[in-house]
Amino acid sequence: MHGKNRIGFSLSNQGATGLSSFNPATAEIRSDQFTGATQEETESAMQKAESAFDTYRNTTPDQRAQFLEAIADEILNLGDELVQTAMQESALPEGRIVGERGRTMGQLKLFASLLREGSWVEATIDTAQPNREPLPKPDIRKMLRPLGPVVVFTASNFPLAFSTAGGDTASALAAGCPVVVKAHNSHLHTNELVSDAISRAAEKTGMPDGVYSSLAADGFGLGTTLVKHPKTKAVAFTGSLGGGMALYKMAIERDEPIPVFAEMGSINPVIFLPKKLNAEKEALAKTYAGSITLGVGQFCTNPGLLIGLEGSDLDQFSTTLASEISGIQPSAMLNEGIAKNFNKNKESSLTQNGVKLISSNSVETPRNGASPAVARVSAKDFLANPNLQEEVFGPYSIVVSCKDQAELDQVIAQLHGQLTITFMGSDDDFKSFETQIHSAEKKTGRLIYNGVPTGVEVCGSMQHGGPFPAATDSRFTSVGSDAIKRFARPVAYQSAPQTMLPDELKDNNPNNVWREVDGQRTNQGL
Ligand code: NAP
Repeated sequence: MHGKNRIGFSLSNQGATGLSSFNPATAEIRSDQFTGATQEETESAMQKAESAFDTYRNTTPDQRAQFLEAIADEILNLGDELVQTAMQESALPEGRIVGERGRTMGQLKLFASLLREGSWVEATIDTAQPNREPLPKPDIRKMLRPLGPVVVFTASNFPLAFSTAGGDTASALAAGCPVVVKAHNSHLHTNELVSDAISRAAEKTGMPDGVYSSLAADGFGLGTTLVKHPKTKAVAFTGSLGGGMALYKMAIERDEPIPVFAEMGSINPVIFLPKKLNAEKEALAKTYAGSITLGVGQFCTNPGLLIGLEGSDLDQFSTTLASEISGIQPSAMLNEGIAKNFNKNKESSLTQNGVKLISSNSVETPRNGASPAVARVSAKDFLANPNLQEEVFGPYSIVVSCKDQAELDQVIAQLHGQLTITFMGSDDDFKSFETQIHSAEKKTGRLIYNGVPTGVEVCGSMQHGGPFPAATDSRFTSVGSDAIKRFARPVAYQSAPQTMLPDELKDNNPNNVWREVDGQRTNQGL
């Protein structure tokens, strides 16, 4: 452990040592000390990123794929030290951390194969028509090219898969963009181990110095400097609505505004349709008790709103859910701040008009812990109070009872943008509630039938993002192969000589990339 900032291939500790790593499960400050980045170090990381961009943007897809695969290998080589460190810094159990490590490596390899396959660049060629009347048509060829240095704010709730070498870093590096990570203070030692692994992979595969840097600091100063820095060309963020919006505003107020891809709050409503609820209320309650409390509720896809039609089925569902939740032990959360926020936001939700706590948990909550809870409210009170749509990050959910279908329509119409909306129903239910399902589609990035929102597959068809406030740009995803599209922009080449074109646009199509040529999809050369 060195406790230094990583500026490309170099380590630096010009600043004051003042950052410590913390074990939320034991409430102990760990012995590791980290140095906060100075302005000069921040400048140096951005300078190196900009210089690296000139070389890195012109690496071949296969070179970048080898780099990503080498990162995955280096992460695995960290062995148990990485697993133990991440466990101690996050209070997450071994199985979860090992699973997350596998997912992190899987994401890196997914982008490596995407690069080798090549069609993600959306190469499109319209050949010249010199004899076209009244004017000749020029040869125009277009594809996606990298944006430039990307600043990644790593997430606290996935210390590996959404952090240092997580989906944002992997997709930005895959696109051809250097990355400067703003380390999350709740897992600085984990960040150091993974940053060093990325740097080793970069050196081994011949990547330019500055393709990757990682900086840490106390307070918002570093994040602000990085977002406002003229060399930064895009920002990726996962965290709170307040944090995401603060960065977004900074970015659009710059002389040169840049995109901020922020994945923020979502309460992931679940709508229980009547026939399904009637047939399976006990089983549904048990399944959802598990989903609400999975990982101490610290998932952006945690189901925070459970909506159904008033009646004995919803009552029995609520009673079983409350009893299941009451039996689940309080556990330590990711860090002190998240635990404090959870307890404050839960209390605030429970004091809103008409909200009634229906679970009871008599076990004392440990320090930095969360005691799971479930509440109930009428749709009338829910509709009258926008505060009830605020994310309570942790194991907490509210059952909303609608007196009839018309009230359910109103609840759906009033929902804010979400990462997910789930419908639990029978085939008959889906027919009867088709209008409501279509209406819900307007509010969400992912529509789930008969499942739980927790658990996000990493694949080409995944959409992890949604209308505001779930994300700042609903057209993009932060999970899955399309995440790469956030860090690339289309460039058209008009009448360009073959020697000046990227391989993907050359007549002979050396990598046999699938592309659109004069309106036809083909992987052949011209
Ligand atoms: P956060 O407070 O949003 O912070 C995330 C990162 O952004 C941190 O590195 C933080 O720096 C930085 N940051 C936040 N506001 C900033 C600002 N105004 N200017 C510059 N930098 C800023 O998220 P968190 O620390 O992970 O957790 C706090 C709360 O966020 C949770 O209680 C939960 O409500 C929510 N959360 C939501 C999700 C989700 O997926 N929806 C995930 C995680 C957390 P510092 O480290 O210096 O604070």
